[in-house]
Order: sequence, then C-alpha cells, then structure tokens
Amino acid sequence: MFELYSTGNYSLNALMETMYKEGLRSGSGKKICKSRIHEHLSNPYFYGKMRWMGEIYQGKHEPIISKELFDVVQKRLTRKNENPQYKTHLPIFKAKIKCDECGGTITWELQKGHWYGHCNHYKECSQTKWMKQYEVENQLFPLFNEVAPKNERVLSWLIKAMKESHVNEIDYNNQKRESLSRIIRTTDQRIEQAYRDKLDGKMPTALCEKIMQESTKEKEDAIDTLEKLSKSRTAYYEAGYAIHELALKASAIYQNPKAKTEDKRLLLSYIFSNLALNADKISPNYTFAFEFMLKFMPMLNEAFELADFGSNKAKEGISASLCPVLCARQDSNLQPLGSKPSTLSVELRAHCV
Ligand SMILES: [Zn+2]
Repeated sequence: MFELYSTGNYSLNALMETMYKEGLRSGSGKKICKSRIHEHLSNPYFYGKMRWMGEIYQGKHEPIISKELFDVVQKRLTRKNENPQYKTHLPIFKAKIKCDECGGTITWELQKGHWYGHCNHYKECSQTKWMKQYEVENQLFPLFNEVAPKNERVLSWLIKAMKESHVNEIDYNNQKRESLSRIIRTTDQRIEQAYRDKLDGKMPTALCEKIMQESTKEKEDAIDTLEKLSKSRTAYYEAGYAIHELALKASAIYQNPKAKTEDKRLLLSYIFSNLALNADKISPNYTFAFEFMLKFMPMLNEAFELADFGSNKAKEGISASLCPVLCARQDSNLQPLGSKPSTLSVELRAHCV
C-alpha cells in the first residue's frame, strides 16, 4: 500500500479500490474507507515506531516498511492538501443526486462561478431544471434538522442516557462473556477427561468419540457467540454518541468556512444514502442510522417539550419509550409515555435489538 501510494499514480480513492481488489478488508469484511487508509498511511507504527499521546516512540516490533518510504508517503499526503487546485473542481454533489424521473445521475457544470446540476438525459426524460448548488443546499439544511436533537439540552440528556444504558449493557455483556468462557473451559476439560478414560480403558472408543464430538460442537458454538458478542458491542459503540452530536451540528459543520468539499461530501454520505431531484425539489433517502433517527428524534424533541423535567419519572418515561439505546433494558417497570402510540415504540425497540 505504501509503495503503491509513493509512486504518485494513486489517489486515495484509487488506492482504496486497488487494496480492496487485492483482498484488504475491514474487520467486518467491507472495503477499508479512505479516511482509514489515510490513517494507516500516516501511522509511524509501520516503520517500527509507536505514537502515544501525540509523541513518537521507538516500538518493540519489527518495522514493516523503511523510514524513507514512510517519509515519501507523508510528503504526498500533505502535498494534496496544500494544492488548492486539487479540490475546488470537485462539485459537492457529484454523483450524490439522482434524477427522480429517469434515475439518471445529476451532472454538475461550472458556469460563471456557479455549479449547476441537471439530469444527464442518458435516458428519455422530461426534466429540464438546472439547479444551483446553493439551491440544493438550502433544501438540505431543514433535512439535517429533522434528524437532530433540537438543542444542546436534548443532546446532553441523550448522551447521558446512552452512557447510563451502556453501564447496563457492559454488565450484561460481561456476564454473558464469563458464562461463555466457562462453557469453553468445561468442554475442554470434558474432552480431555474422555480421552484419558479411553486410554485407560475406562471408556469405550465409541462413547469417547461421541463425547468429543458433542463437546467440540458445544465449544465451537460458544466461541462463535463470544466473537459475535464482541462485534455487536463494537458496532453499538461506534453508532453511539457521535452520531447525535453530528446531527445537531450538521448545518454548522457544513457551513463552516473551513469545511472543504471533501468534508461536506463525507458529511452528506453519513446522513444520506442518496438524494433525488424532481423539478426543483430535493427528496432525501437517509442512511440506516439516520432513517431511524428521523422517526425517533421528533418524538424525543416533542417529549422534551411536554415532559416536566423536574421529575425523574418523566425522564424515565422518555427513556423507556423513546431512547433507542435504552431498549435493551430489562427493567419492565418503566412505562412508556401514555400519549405515544405503542406500536411505534415497539418498532423502535425492534430496530435496535
Ligand atoms: Zn432524468
């Protein structure tokens, strides 16, 4: 990867595709994303060092690449950011919007300092509207708000609630982990014992084989469950805190003068799986997480207005009925808010089990 990138023939995008073709996968078997590749390329670990609290130390491991190669790669990585030409010619919405009528991609053209998007008309299509970039943006800002906690107060409550629920979840996971480890230990002992008994002539071969077979199966199942448990927990945390904060600040991040085109595109890809244009109207498809928040957030925001937050009971009511991360709670004493349709809260719960 370092060698390919050092040639200068690969952009990070091209490198991402090439590494995927070469068989490089993330922990979940997916393509390693660009930011992760960037992270790897700038990690001193590969030439034998360690980064710790912002300082670089000599590592105890064998270097995988030379310091020279690492330095060449660093130069390439930073050069791109310094070059203003590199990003200004990329329209923010390139390949992000589809024509609602024909399904074709909205193409972007720069004219007199404005980006205009229109249907590519590769197929028969009656759409003629040329949209300015800022016209699309103005339609997106209200869409950001629909998936966001309405203010810092709701956000901080949400984060606190999530942290509390994680405490329960960690306890539960630890218990489960322990019991699985116990199963693995016991099956090992059983296999060993059966084998000894057979050698000592205390156990017929057929029985020994049966015990070994069954115990091995049981052990493998336990290991499998243990692995899944760790994976689900990681996913759970990753999806956790950051997303709500991101939603609340999405408009501000997007409009920050320092936000580059790439940043904006990344933000859009977190929130929307795609956008469709019909005449001059943009309609969104949210990504899975934000699709969920689209249902959940208005209820939470509304509940915050209705509930009396002096009382803990009101808070618990909201937790029980609305907060997606609290749905794993075993506590059945918490009643959902009476005014909310229970089918939806069941659905919300089902989403995150
Ligand atoms: Zn079209």
